[in-house]
Amino acid sequence: MSQDNCLFCGIIAGDIPSEKVYEDDAVYAFKDINPKAKVHVLIVPKRHYANVAALAKEDASLLAHIVEVAQSVADDAFHGEYRLVFNTGKDAGQTVFHVHAHVLTGEVLDE
Ligand code: 5GP
Ligand code: ZN
Repeated sequence: MSQDNCLFCGIIAGDIPSEKVYEDDAVYAFKDINPKAKVHVLIVPKRHYANVAALAKEDASLLAHIVEVAQSVADDAFHGEYRLVFNTGKDAGQTVFHVHAHVLTGEVLDE
């Protein structure tokens, strides 16, 4: 279910252009517009949840699926090693309130 005025619902719907990395019935993955690593992919569930806690509560298997997709992105990009980040809440740096996994990979990352 999409939510009005949600940037990532707009990207999933194709109303806002994005560089797709992967898609299936449940998730959409695309390149971050402002990459913080050589490979920086965002993975979002097609259904709108505000943050990872809401997703975990409502559909834990979908959260597990997002981890599988992250693994697969990193398998292709960088021998299966990656950082997975869910910023949760404004004061933690969340700016888009449609849950998204940041997959940072493609190079050795700073701590
Ligand atoms: P947050 O700060 O909410 O954890 O992450 C939001 C991410 O979305 C940021 O890394 C930002 O660069 C990315 N972003 C914001 N607007 C767009 C956009 O229009 N297209 C894409 N591909 N990424 C975006
Ligand atoms: Zn949304």
